[in-house]
Amino acid sequence: MAPFIFNTTKSLVFETGASARLAEVAGQTLGKSVLLVTDPGLRQLGLADPAIASLEAAGHSVAVFDKVEADPSRETLMQAVAFGRSVGATGVVGLGGGSSLDVSKLVALLLGSDEDLDEAWGVAQAKGPRLPLVLVPTTAGTGSEVTPVSIITVGAEEKRGVSSPVILPDIAVLDADLTVGLPAHITAATGVDAMVHAIEAYASKSANNNPLSKMLAREALRLLGANIEAAVFNGQDKGARGAMLLGSMLAGQAFANSPVAAVHALAYPIGGTFHVPHGLSNALVLPHVLRFNAPGAHALYAEIAADAFPQIVEVEGSQARCAAFIDALADLSKHLGMQTRLRDVNIPEDAIGKMAADSMIQQRLLVNNPRAVTERDAFNIYKAAW
Ligand SMILES: [Zn+2]
Repeated sequence: MAPFIFNTTKSLVFETGASARLAEVAGQTLGKSVLLVTDPGLRQLGLADPAIASLEAAGHSVAVFDKVEADPSRETLMQAVAFGRSVGATGVVGLGGGSSLDVSKLVALLLGSDEDLDEAWGVAQAKGPRLPLVLVPTTAGTGSEVTPVSIITVGAEEKRGVSSPVILPDIAVLDADLTVGLPAHITAATGVDAMVHAIEAYASKSANNNPLSKMLAREALRLLGANIEAAVFNGQDKGARGAMLLGSMLAGQAFANSPVAAVHALAYPIGGTFHVPHGLSNALVLPHVLRFNAPGAHALYAEIAADAFPQIVEVEGSQARCAAFIDALADLSKHLGMQTRLRDVNIPEDAIGKMAADSMIQQRLLVNNPRAVTERDAFNIYKAAW
């Protein structure tokens, strides 16, 4: 068996209502002075209030930084670091979607180590130590609570990433109570994103693709496939919400160690240039990239097809199963009410050339794709998706 390394968050708490007992769950780890990082929308909705009340009742002081935006900027990150320093933070809680969690990881790093951010970009450059870190996701999608990655926007639109096991949190808290109010369209897009993480991790050509990632990806697809409709159409269904949180975390563990590929590489120019949310960007290219990959990957897709869509178990032969899988994924996005074509999100057809060129910048992802993708291939995939 090939050698591999598997890193993940060392303590996972899965419990509806856990954020309202945050002091019991994570108080010792965080210390006396807690910096809580979130976004203005969640702050207004009061989603962080039970966590804050729990910590304060147990004698912690809690300072709230609630200025994280979508595609968070370096300026926002540095503001949060300065605020954390001014209050003498002993630990960091990130509560929110992927943006808040990503910012929290680097806030904890920079507060804990005086490390220079410009020396931390890239893979395994961040050294730490960091402050104690607890992540509480409010969407079921990014899996950021179990990934060693933080993506920050530098300048106008350049995305830079820090990837290092040092920024994996001490504790991830999965509380379905925090996701019941998530609007249907965000539930759909983030849920499909999580499915893409599992699919791409399973079929990844990464040298570190490994039996744990594969096992986790399959269980993630079972949970996500069985619960995404209920979570979208009946947001109050806590059973479905919990299953989506667990599924997206398992998919996160899978791709944190067996990285994603061309679906994500081709989604980035859609998000970067046209500000389409990450999950929807992935969904728009998903069936077209998988169809392109099928000649090299149909056997792998056939293996996981019935995990996500149990009815496919009836389909005989790996080619037919793979085709049924891709069709079912395309139907799912449509059924969940998502836009399905690039034109539906107002991307002009003549933007495709530049998007294809931009996607080639994502070589760190494209190298993991089961079939090599040229700029011409990317152009054709976008055309099919338009
Ligand atoms: Zn993603």
